[in-house]
Amino acid sequence: MDAVKDFLSSLMLGELLKGMKLTGKYMFARKITVQYPEEKTPMSPRFRGLHALRRYENGEERCIACKLCEAVCPALAITIESDLRDDGTRRTTRYDIDLTKCIFCGFCEESCPVDSIVETHIHEYHGEKRGDLYFTKEMLLAVGDRYEKEIAANRAKDAAFR
Ligand code: SF4
Ligand code: SF4
Repeated sequence: MDAVKDFLSSLMLGELLKGMKLTGKYMFARKITVQYPEEKTPMSPRFRGLHALRRYENGEERCIACKLCEAVCPALAITIESDLRDDGTRRTTRYDIDLTKCIFCGFCEESCPVDSIVETHIHEYHGEKRGDLYFTKEMLLAVGDRYEKEIAANRAKDAAFR
């Protein structure tokens, strides 16, 4: 019986009519195409964009050079070197992220015990040569300094779920 139904349906171009019905339904529906970059869609506070290194309010770097983020990074994109400061605390002397290797998994952010390395909402950046996407500690701190307000607001929104 099914075979007869299929035969008749194909003879009457049933699938084609079904497709045209669907096309017709959306032809007059409200358009949802976003005119990017003039229009933008809402972004989750968990969005994983460009990385940043954060500081405390007093200007001190949060990072304590524990190297958990370097160890957990599946793409081996993070390189850290550290040293002891005169006051006996440990800080990084080098903290680089090669964004051409990074897969934006967010593991570095999740592993950080002091909320130092984070992924921001920034996604409109580019490099014109490979080296442009190699972010050094100074560059990452500069991103953190510039966007700290937005980063803190997004972390606060997500805090209940962490
Ligand atoms: S987001 Fe993932 S791949 Fe990118 S640096 Fe962090 S841990 Fe590595
Ligand atoms: S960014 Fe966080 S996880 Fe990575 S070395 Fe610094 S303190 Fe440790």
